[in-house]
Amino acid sequence: MKHLLALIPILAILVACGERSYREANYAKDGPRFKALLLYDDGAELAHVQFAHQAIGFFRKLTVGEGFVVDSTQSLSGYSLDQLKEYSVIVALNAAPSKDARPLFEEYMESGGGWLGFHASAYNDARTDWPWFVKFLGGGVFKCNNWPPQPALLELDRSDHPVTKNLPVSYVCPASEFYQWSPEPRKNPDIEVLVTLSAKNYPFGLKDIVYGGDFPVVWTNRNYRMLYINMGHGDEQFTDSTEKLLFINAFRWLLENDPAGNPFDK
Ligand code: ZN
Repeated sequence: MKHLLALIPILAILVACGERSYREANYAKDGPRFKALLLYDDGAELAHVQFAHQAIGFFRKLTVGEGFVVDSTQSLSGYSLDQLKEYSVIVALNAAPSKDARPLFEEYMESGGGWLGFHASAYNDARTDWPWFVKFLGGGVFKCNNWPPQPALLELDRSDHPVTKNLPVSYVCPASEFYQWSPEPRKNPDIEVLVTLSAKNYPFGLKDIVYGGDFPVVWTNRNYRMLYINMGHGDEQFTDSTEKLLFINAFRWLLENDPAGNPFDK
């Protein structure tokens, strides 16, 4: 027994060494290349909070090996512009910036900041009273939605864009609620739509039913380093490889276009 006890410290060292060599093999050679800030709101509706927490886990997992730094916050209010500018991209998971942080966010975006917004992060209606944000999104306010959340057939508008790289030209994405916007973002010449909800889905929904109309799902405003993704409701978004590839493509494309430099250049 005594001999066995004496072996414990040696075994502990062996285990520790093994762990260290494993970790080192996965470290990025040049350390973190950029910083991303995840913005979310735990006070949002349950399905939007579920998505936000799964997304936080998803983006944190992408940092394994210290390729980049990801921070998360429920409010931009405490940040100075310089602090915010340290982040190459803000990933808005289920909320727009709060009222007091609107001027800061506008300044960040107008000076080259990045924004990847999911689902409810772009929600706005007549009560929102933020004209800059509506223009930023392409002019649309919430018009209607499908309910309950369900899978949907999506079609690529462009298959030669970095955001849709290696995605099938049409595919069924996991269950989500989708927002239709008015006026249609596509009518705005500053907007480029990359993915659209197929008209083959109509009538779309069981309780709240969308019967037709242009239904863009992923788009960018060419005047900003921004991308909106309509999905982001519930706990099924990260069950599908195509969906996860779209999210990574989108994230990467915004980073590649950072005016401070492409962090993926050698
Ligand atoms: Zn929703």
